[in-house]
Amino acid sequence: MSKWSNYINPTVRQIPPSGIRRFFDLAAEMEGVISLGVGEPDFVTPWHIREACIYSLHRGSTTYTSNHGLLELREEIANYLGSQGVHYNPKKEILVTVGVSEALDLALRTLVCPGDEVIIPTPCYVSYLPCTELAGGVPVTVATSMEDQFRLTADKLEAVITPKSKVLLLCFPNNPTGAIMDRQNLLNIAEVVRKHDLLVISDEIYDRLTYTGHHTCFASLPGMQERTIVLNGFSKAYAMTGWRLGYAAANEEFIAAMTKIHQYTMLCAPITAQVSALEALRHGKSAMQDMVTQYNRRRRLVVHGFKEIGLPCFEPGGAFYAFPYIGHTGLTAAEFAESLLLEEKVAVIPGDVFGPGGEGCVRCSYASSLEDLTEALQRMGRFLKRRGLH
Ligand code: PLP
Repeated sequence: MSKWSNYINPTVRQIPPSGIRRFFDLAAEMEGVISLGVGEPDFVTPWHIREACIYSLHRGSTTYTSNHGLLELREEIANYLGSQGVHYNPKKEILVTVGVSEALDLALRTLVCPGDEVIIPTPCYVSYLPCTELAGGVPVTVATSMEDQFRLTADKLEAVITPKSKVLLLCFPNNPTGAIMDRQNLLNIAEVVRKHDLLVISDEIYDRLTYTGHHTCFASLPGMQERTIVLNGFSKAYAMTGWRLGYAAANEEFIAAMTKIHQYTMLCAPITAQVSALEALRHGKSAMQDMVTQYNRRRRLVVHGFKEIGLPCFEPGGAFYAFPYIGHTGLTAAEFAESLLLEEKVAVIPGDVFGPGGEGCVRCSYASSLEDLTEALQRMGRFLKRRGLH
């Protein structure tokens, strides 16, 4: 420890490093690894989207944009949300951000006062707990379970509400489980939200990646728009992780408050990414649907494959993750992931990295080629056979 430890803000110091990173680092040192670890499309951004960016650079679009983002882009985002049954004024109720990551950070920092409780269904995306803490809030986790298909139930939500509860942070389709919530499930949650006067941050970054049902935008439920901040972006649906573009849609006053932080910290999202996102929304539907069709094919392959090799796996309805149960192997999720990596060179992420409810499971991303997935399943089968489990 250097003298710098004394200078570092204790809230930052106590935040643990990402459990995912540790496995990436380990896998990066090895050759021949098939990684089911990354939460990132294996596709390159569709050509016409890249081309729109190249043309805009030729035209000399290299400047800052409005803090809110290009108006044309906000109008297109408003159109998209309108198609989901929820209507926003593009001039005042939408903020374009540097990925959903920035939108999440801004939403939490704008809402949370010291000591406010933020209810987070888990397993959840790894940023939710640290970002809540960095905003001065207290994360309160609610473990979902495979028996409930990793959905949040109204009873479980009611059970953790206290006078300090302020925000519910939802993410469906879910990372890491692939769970989706149908309209009726969400209506049950909305009732509790209304009863206890909660606000909702709804991270809907995987909304286009649904395979077994239609996505319901939380803000489209009766009475929920006025209580909800919808977060969404381009990373997953359009294979645009590196472009760093997302947005928040919410009440005018709230967006103005978020924009105050954004204008001083980020100023605006990169113009190149904004131009490309505009192209994605206007003309990217068929390329996006092709990718979704391929994810769905892979999803069926891995869910079936896990069952074949003796790993119980709940059927994920969205995103690009499967979350098989490995508890019966007698190994913890971390031991399973580490041994699988060292013995068979397949990288998966231990489920407990994503919080309570994830113990005994591992997250496997199926954003990989069918060939790699088939080979990974064979290697995992061999790994289990050696332990007399297959
Ligand atoms: N939200 C969820 C649930 C995610 O899984 C991720 C990335 O994996 C993000 C947000 C970050 O998205 P972005 O690339 O738009 O910052």
